[in-house]
Amino acid sequence: MKLSFNSLRLSFIGIALISVSIAASAQSISDYRKAHRDLLAKQEKIKDKIKVEEAQKYAQDLYGDKQVDNADIYSEAWNSDRVNPYQNASIPTSKVLDVSKYAMPIKNNAITSHFGYRKQFGRMHYGVDLKASVGDTVYAAFSGKVRLTKFERNGYGFFVIVRHDNGMETVYGHLSKFLVKPNQYVKAGTPIALSGNTGRSTGPHLHFETRYMGVAMNPEKIFDFINGTTYHDTFTFNKNENNNSGNNRQSASRRRR
Ligand SMILES: [Zn+2]
Repeated sequence: MKLSFNSLRLSFIGIALISVSIAASAQSISDYRKAHRDLLAKQEKIKDKIKVEEAQKYAQDLYGDKQVDNADIYSEAWNSDRVNPYQNASIPTSKVLDVSKYAMPIKNNAITSHFGYRKQFGRMHYGVDLKASVGDTVYAAFSGKVRLTKFERNGYGFFVIVRHDNGMETVYGHLSKFLVKPNQYVKAGTPIALSGNTGRSTGPHLHFETRYMGVAMNPEKIFDFINGTTYHDTFTFNKNENNNSGNNRQSASRRRR
């Protein structure tokens, strides 16, 4: 109602303006120009206000606050076959991530290798290794959309990357079989693959990574693998704490295991 009233008013002002210009011949031209500028200035303000208010209301009606975020999550740096597709993105200093609706990636939660720098190999280990046999079911840790299923002979072997509603991505490596396809939406706990021993791997296990905007975070800070839960309903990503190696920004081919 408000918009249509304002539109009518604008139309009226427009008609009035034309009428003024017809009748203006007797008036001095500078008086007329001043009146014209004033009218235009008033119109601009009204129009802009309507545009902003309407656009905000439209977005809220359509998506609600939460899903506006999701629209960005599944569009930014989506079409990439890199493990870290956010090569040139500006990464926030900190971000609270919702990890309340989760599933453990594999039933057996025994960690065989931790996150961190591996002296013997001279490189970072960007995830944790979880004990698994060939053919064990691997589950999506959170709800989200499969971004990538790929094979890397000298690295992750068969691996799956899922981007989640909470903004995170998880990586599952050394798999023997995919159970999902890219762009498929999965819920937390959906079987996505079978574990295996493919790629650079010395025995069957699941390599599991948790990342935010490409930056690897220690999964053991989010998940309590002993009890099969997350520690809290939220996890606060801290760029400076987690970005413990510039290697996070390297291409997938240089990141192994
Ligand atoms: Zn690993």
